[in-house]
Amino acid sequence: MTSPEQLRSFIRDVPDFPKPGIVFKDITPLLHSPMALDKTMEWLAEPFRDEGITNVVAIESRGFIFGSCVARALNAGFVPIRKPGKLPWNCRRHEYVLEYGKDILEIHDDALTPDDRVIVVDDVLATGGTAAAAASLVHGFGAKLIGLAMVIELSFLEGRRKLDANTKIHTLLQY
Ligand code: AMP
Repeated sequence: MTSPEQLRSFIRDVPDFPKPGIVFKDITPLLHSPMALDKTMEWLAEPFRDEGITNVVAIESRGFIFGSCVARALNAGFVPIRKPGKLPWNCRRHEYVLEYGKDILEIHDDALTPDDRVIVVDDVLATGGTAAAAASLVHGFGAKLIGLAMVIELSFLEGRRKLDANTKIHTLLQY
């Protein structure tokens, strides 16, 4: 594999999941392939290798799969962002609007400091609401948000518009 474009054949479109009208981007074929998975991690991490990233912040649940591997690739720590009530310690929360509904995200109160240099990792950038919520949680600690890394970008939903122009938004496949 030489280019992220070759990952496209590992993404399965599932119409009307989890609701009528949504075309769900299923990443499990990509996870299943040792080579596709390896290259995905490498390509997600690539633009951030010299950025001194201290922590990868990833969003439940598919973000955890990519986030932990990218953290490993960047020699960084891992910080989970989860749905309400899942994290055991004191949390900060942020409410946001999703492509299919409304939700709340939480992060541990001691997850980051102003010295941290952070990227946010998830599988899909859709409307950008989730990524913007994660960005806002990161900014709440005074940490520096260096960028976002996502496998798939649904460009027609213009999720980038919800994010700060100074944040590097790195996506491997655009639809
Ligand atoms: P959004 O907040 O609209 O950018 O949605 C991003 C979140 O919802 C990500 O965590 C994705 O995992 C999930 N998501 C949204 N739309 C899709 C889709 N079409 N296929 C798969 N996952 C999606």
